[in-house]
Amino acid sequence: MSSNQDTMADRIAAIRIRIAAACVRAGRQPDEVTLLPVSKTFGEHSIREAVALGYKRFGENRTQEIAQKAPLLVDCGLQWVVIGQVQTNKAKDVARLAHELQSLDRLELAQALDRRLQSEGRAIDVLVQVKTSPEETKSGLEMSELIPFLRELKQFQTLRVQGLMTLAILSSDARAVRSCFAQLRALRDKAREEAIEGISLDRLSMGMSSDFELAIEEGSTEIRVGSAIFGSRPNP
Ligand SMILES: *Cc1c(COP(=O)(O)O)cnc(C)c1O
Repeated sequence: MSSNQDTMADRIAAIRIRIAAACVRAGRQPDEVTLLPVSKTFGEHSIREAVALGYKRFGENRTQEIAQKAPLLVDCGLQWVVIGQVQTNKAKDVARLAHELQSLDRLELAQALDRRLQSEGRAIDVLVQVKTSPEETKSGLEMSELIPFLRELKQFQTLRVQGLMTLAILSSDARAVRSCFAQLRALRDKAREEAIEGISLDRLSMGMSSDFELAIEEGSTEIRVGSAIFGSRPNP
């Protein structure tokens, strides 16, 4: 466990060791797993500390927060990754500010984004967020809707579909958590068999501070880690 005296470098080194150990258990290589620092609620100073340790991409769940932080950090050349639920009326902000969206969960949002991205003359990487947990509070596309949704996404030249994202159930039962990750991977494999042209689904964004080792064992290619890097956040 981290104490207040730990530096960010210490905390990231500890995470890297845990990533490597999970990879050994799963017969994977540590370089198959990307660490995405999630900087939501943390300010310029903390982000600069992570930049100094070599990170350039940061996860945020609100476009308003990116709009506040981005101007303070322009010199760093950062890439902002939106990981939170996006209201359709915020598509303009995603198109303007984000390098990537990991929480694409409905056609209406894809349409709004495509329109805005066309006018910005840009394309972005997207992951489709899938609901693998029964909790009402979790957002994401229903698993049964994924394949038809991917077929629809082909029409949008501005959205480069790279893979899937999920949030596991919040539970102390490791089997229940692992099952969410396993379901996402199985769904990805099934979608791949459909061989939807132009969509490769190489990336699986799954795992956070509390459950990233299980996610890696189940095939995660990207873990989104906030509190284990930046410290605990005030309760919402
Ligand atoms: C906040 C957040 C994370 C990181 O959570 P931690 O528990 O702080 O690691 C990961 N994914 C999403 C979608 C988030 O909103």
